[in-house]
Amino acid sequence: MIRIETEPWQVMVAHARRTYPNECCGAMLGTIDGDGKNVREAIALDNAFEGAQAARYELRPEDLLKADKAARDRGMDLIGIYHSHPDCDAYFSTTDLQNSCPWYSFVVLSIQKGEFHHANSWLPNVDQTVADKEELTY
Ligand SMILES: [Zn+2]
Repeated sequence: MIRIETEPWQVMVAHARRTYPNECCGAMLGTIDGDGKNVREAIALDNAFEGAQAARYELRPEDLLKADKAARDRGMDLIGIYHSHPDCDAYFSTTDLQNSCPWYSFVVLSIQKGEFHHANSWLPNVDQTVADKEELTY
């Protein structure tokens, strides 16, 4: 299960609303305790996708490396990636699955008409063929 603390959660929702009607993306930093993950900080990253960003996001590998380093510097880990789905449910699309990494949690925020609607967290399998829903609290 994954728990997002209030402050990073507010950062994520504000970021998703600000980029609407485009998708936003960012990194989630925190700690892992057994099966439980605790997100303590969210870092907004650029959507680097060069086409229409309303239904697609792309992270720059160097931005992810920077987020990973920032996490380590603060005694945390990079535990997941978040992105938004403008006017769409918080499902995990085939593209999301293909661009995922099995060792991260993927939180998807559904933004409907510019407002936060609901969110889900997904855990891709090693082959990136299926993603299971992960229990999410925020
Ligand atoms: Zn997506």
